[in-house]
Amino acid sequence: MGLEEKVPDGVLLTSVDKMVNWARKSSLWPLGFGLACCAIEMMSAFGPRFDLARFGMEVMRPSPRQADLMIVSGRVSNKMAPVLIRLYEQMPSPKWVIAMGACASTGGVFNNYAILQGVDKILPVDVYVPGCPPRPEQLIDGIVKLQEKIKKESVKQ
Ligand code: SF4
Repeated sequence: MGLEEKVPDGVLLTSVDKMVNWARKSSLWPLGFGLACCAIEMMSAFGPRFDLARFGMEVMRPSPRQADLMIVSGRVSNKMAPVLIRLYEQMPSPKWVIAMGACASTGGVFNNYAILQGVDKILPVDVYVPGCPPRPEQLIDGIVKLQEKIKKESVKQ
């Protein structure tokens, strides 16, 4: 007799990792802030046309204490960098970071003393979204890639 036949109807077998990762990936709460032009595309992604609510993500949080995803949308000035670090540290773990656009990923065209040459100099970035600016579909693609990454994580880490 196989294991399936011994388990009563209506009982599903899974692992803690799979269940927790499914819950985490399906209810990401992004921190609501934008830094430059990329933020306009990010806002569009939450609107009715692109409808990020389909991914369980419509709840933009005004407080970092209620957010687990930071979307860095736009260039980060050196003056703003300590603020970004403070916001990241105030977010509860586990937490994830998306660098949206050329500026957040590398400094973009702003190769000068005032702009951080990539947010990964100060924060651990999970997904980079290319473009100047990336369209909302590209941000959504980056979020789907982050969800795939979360599915492979373990609660033991
Ligand atoms: S990547 Fe382009 S659109 Fe985005 S913040 Fe930089 S200049 Fe603006």
